[in-house]
Amino acid sequence: MSEIKENMEIVRERIRAACRRAGRDESEVTLIAVSKTKPVPMLMEAYEAGAREFGENKVQEILAKHSNLPGDTRWHMIGHLQRNKVHQVLEKAALIHSVDSLRLAEQIEAEAAKKGLEAQILLEINVAKEESKYGFFMEEAEEAIRHISQFSHVHIRGLMTIAPFVENPEENRTIFKKLYQFAVDIGRKNIDNVTMDVLSMGMTGDYEVAVEEGATMVRVGTGIFGERHYGAV
Ligand SMILES: *Cc1c(COP(=O)(O)O)cnc(C)c1O
Repeated sequence: MSEIKENMEIVRERIRAACRRAGRDESEVTLIAVSKTKPVPMLMEAYEAGAREFGENKVQEILAKHSNLPGDTRWHMIGHLQRNKVHQVLEKAALIHSVDSLRLAEQIEAEAAKKGLEAQILLEINVAKEESKYGFFMEEAEEAIRHISQFSHVHIRGLMTIAPFVENPEENRTIFKKLYQFAVDIGRKNIDNVTMDVLSMGMTGDYEVAVEEGATMVRVGTGIFGERHYGAV
């Protein structure tokens, strides 16, 4: 068995176990294979092992890879998105996880209107207020959500966060709990054109804790494809 296939099975089994511990149904959790920096043949191996959802953090990589994989794949934009690249990625990305400013949301609205399509987005939340990270602070997010909810070509589907890098994933449990609770609170406000059914949180180091705390999408790169070697690709 290929290593990627083996890794996928391990990750799926761990998600299943985390769901069991939390009394959740495993069908509630979508595994996104984060394939940034990895070449197409490796993505094909993941595809053959059942992967259909792929995550990339660069527009260029989505454009280059998506036409080289079968048509039933779905692409997730998970990295900081520059406004001048929005028009390139809109038709390719099923979901943009990384909407981190109102100006970006406005650009997505304008380009989606031009193309006559509806963009599916998540708001990126910087729960831990790390200076190195993009995203809205929780205190400013509701106002942003209410503003974006008035756009007619953008649909907020939920929230995303990149938790701090920690040795022990338990250290991120409160981060995930906070984001889950915040999503529940926003959901209860029944804002028009806003649904809170997607919670994108958890990476290789902490996805099991994220699933226990309510993640509906986990973004796993290293755990499937191995270490990334920047510059060597
Ligand atoms: C790279 C990346 C991931 C995957 O990270 P791993 O630790 O390799 O699983 C997840 N989310 C985002 C936003 C990323 O940029």
